[in-house]
Amino acid sequence: MRPNFDRDPAHYPEPRTSANRSEHGSTNRWRWGCRCAACKKAHVDHSRTSRRASRDVEFGKHETQVLTALTTGETPESACAGTTLSIGKLYGRAKWDEGWRNRLDLAMTLGRLPGVPHGTETAYKKGCRCPDCRSNRAH
Ligand SMILES: [Zn+2]
Ligand SMILES: [Zn+2]
Repeated sequence: MRPNFDRDPAHYPEPRTSANRSEHGSTNRWRWGCRCAACKKAHVDHSRTSRRASRDVEFGKHETQVLTALTTGETPESACAGTTLSIGKLYGRAKWDEGWRNRLDLAMTLGRLPGVPHGTETAYKKGCRCPDCRSNRAH
């Protein structure tokens, strides 16, 4: 069986210049070329963080527009039109960002159809995704 070079730091030679001689488990060491388990984890953690950071910028740019559209009764689909956001991104963020989830729920509650019994199948079928309709659906 082939030894697992991929995960073993001993497989990767020491950097020649001291500037690159960061400990294993650092993004510096990853950039220098080490692919051991510790450096890989550092890299993955770092890219997850920077992906979230770029999403933050994306939301910062478009969130007012999307929330305003939702508040005035537009569907999530049309609220996202003309932005780089999508329904998947809106709900995806709501799973881990409580502040955003509250803003999104508030906008959808304000913009929901009047005269419809929310929290029922009827409203959900009309396309309503307000918190009441969504939680009714989840039960
Ligand atoms: Zn390493
Ligand atoms: Zn509703």
